[in-house]
Amino acid sequence: MSVEKAAELLSSARRGVALTGAGASAESGIPTFRGEGGLWTSYDPVKVSSIDSFMADPVSYWQVSKDRGRVALAAKPNQGHMALAALEGAGHLVAIVTQNTDGLHQASGARRVIELHGSGRNVRCLECGTIESRQDVQDRLNVEMPPRCRACGGALLKPTVVLFGEPMPVDAVMAAYDLARQADVMLVVGTSLVVYPAAEIPLVAVRAGAPLIVINAKPTPFDRFAEVVIHGRSGEILPEILSLISA
Ligand code: NAD
Ligand code: ZN
Repeated sequence: MSVEKAAELLSSARRGVALTGAGASAESGIPTFRGEGGLWTSYDPVKVSSIDSFMADPVSYWQVSKDRGRVALAAKPNQGHMALAALEGAGHLVAIVTQNTDGLHQASGARRVIELHGSGRNVRCLECGTIESRQDVQDRLNVEMPPRCRACGGALLKPTVVLFGEPMPVDAVMAAYDLARQADVMLVVGTSLVVYPAAEIPLVAVRAGAPLIVINAKPTPFDRFAEVVIHGRSGEILPEILSLISA
């Protein structure tokens, strides 16, 4: 059975690396982008999530972001996040590389989390550089649209996430590639693997000889490179794998 095979591979791993995407947070109530109920069935991604449209029209950006922010700030880690943190704690994973910006891996107790697309927990003023917590900005969105910088009064407050058209954080990308090159197991969880360069990370690990495990609700383009493919919910499958390892 594939859950057993995944447990076997992970139990002997010493430099395992996880790569997670929006699916890992779906069971925490945060909508994914693609797939059923995905955000991009209701919004045009480039319109709501590109730096050009943000600069041109921050009000439209914040009107959408207001609802998403409320959901993400209220979300709690699910059993899948907890199982990944436990795999790290037990020495089977050395890091969790994530495309998510919700901070739920950190909230679950994971120690080394590499955020490829930044963090939605903070907001930066593009005029003076002041950083504020997203929660503080969120709290005043009902009376202030767009939100204004508390330091300079500017109206270009942008969450510290990577929007379309923005470069990815170089340090995070370099660290992720290094980890992938050295990985002895690559565990991919809840990502459609269509956003590059994030999607290349598992390939780097595979080319370096690491077995690939894919846990995702739907088939991905990388299933054919994987030793183990499990189609299902990460909040159910990861705890099963963990319990086999801990047994
Ligand atoms: P995606 O939406 O493209 O793909 C998510 C994948 O997860 C889909 O293939 C889906 O079948 C699968 N899935 C859904 N529920 C699942 C579950 N319970 N268990 C396992 N798999 C499940 O997401 P992506 O590949 O991460 O790319 C979208 C981009 O959007 C990311 O780069 C990310 O930055 C951003 N995003 C972030 C969040 C977040 O922070 N939680 C949420 C939405 C989008
Ligand atoms: Zn400012």
